[in-house]
Amino acid sequence: MTTSSMYDLIKTLTEIPGPTGQEERVHEWCANHWSSYAEHVEITQVGNVVARVGGSGPAIVVLAHGDELGLMVKSITDAGLIHIWPAGPDRRGKPAHWYNPVNSPVVLLADDGDVDGQLVYASGHVIGGASDKQSFDWNDWFVDVGYSSREEVEALGIHPGTRIAANVPTRRLGDTIIGKAMDDRAPLAVATALAERVDTSKINYELWVGSTIQEENGLIGAASIPLVHDFSYGFALDVGLCGEVPGTQAANHPAKLRHGPIVVHQDASVNYSARMCRAAVEAARSRGIPVQQAVFQNYGSDGKELIRAGIESVLLTMPTRYTHSPNEMVTEDDCNACVDLLIAFLEAEPLGPRWSGNTA
Ligand SMILES: [Zn+2]
Repeated sequence: MTTSSMYDLIKTLTEIPGPTGQEERVHEWCANHWSSYAEHVEITQVGNVVARVGGSGPAIVVLAHGDELGLMVKSITDAGLIHIWPAGPDRRGKPAHWYNPVNSPVVLLADDGDVDGQLVYASGHVIGGASDKQSFDWNDWFVDVGYSSREEVEALGIHPGTRIAANVPTRRLGDTIIGKAMDDRAPLAVATALAERVDTSKINYELWVGSTIQEENGLIGAASIPLVHDFSYGFALDVGLCGEVPGTQAANHPAKLRHGPIVVHQDASVNYSARMCRAAVEAARSRGIPVQQAVFQNYGSDGKELIRAGIESVLLTMPTRYTHSPNEMVTEDDCNACVDLLIAFLEAEPLGPRWSGNTA
């Protein structure tokens, strides 16, 4: 079976539009591609995609998420300009000042086919001067699709509820890869590469890979992953937070791009399995694979839902700069090291039950 280059997988997966709530194209790609490498593939009723790759032992699921942070059409002005909404919980009533996807080309997933647009705001030349505005409101941002009336825009199949995704090409930049939707397609590329590269005759687990819907708005898809199979263990794969750039503090974010995958012990919502964290780090070190460890303060992952459902889990992340922007940056080496770490973990002795006494 041929294996894909990490760059090709990341470019292909990140360029598919899959805003939260409309992940079908991403998951259909996974189902089709994974079918060549897995014993069984299914897309569940809510749209999660899962595949049993093979191997025998306790069942483990390596899980990424298919959705990317997107926007939603809220209303259309008489002049054919499109007001937007974050398509998820809005805790501030306006865009967070660090969430800044504006000035990016976007694609609208309209009923009659995709429509190109540009996410914009009125320029300083027309709103500046006397304005004392300190931050953007949602209605300051809008999408221009290049038409002059609501009727023309509606005729394209655009209406309140139409989803919008960033639309920039994924490309190499120095030794990095930059583009939109690295969260969470770079980890999805890792899960895909794992299915392609793993030798299931050498692993001590029954390996499944999967991808969930609606992670970004509250881990919705992960909640039904336990219905798919009786999993003992889970790896949530996601983008990892890096310091080392202006505006960050090494005291809070010690992990760095180019220094290998990050095993996360705790985030804002859950503590991950301490013994799985340790086993993942030891598996990497036993093979000379670079690995980092961290605590993510403003962050959550599907691993929380897995643990709540009784699946012992750990969060494993690819170092990523500029998360939740159209300029997310990863490196091929970090992503390949993540695949190597997962294979090392799967080939090591399984952790086993927490207590082996009193089984009679
Ligand atoms: Zn994510």
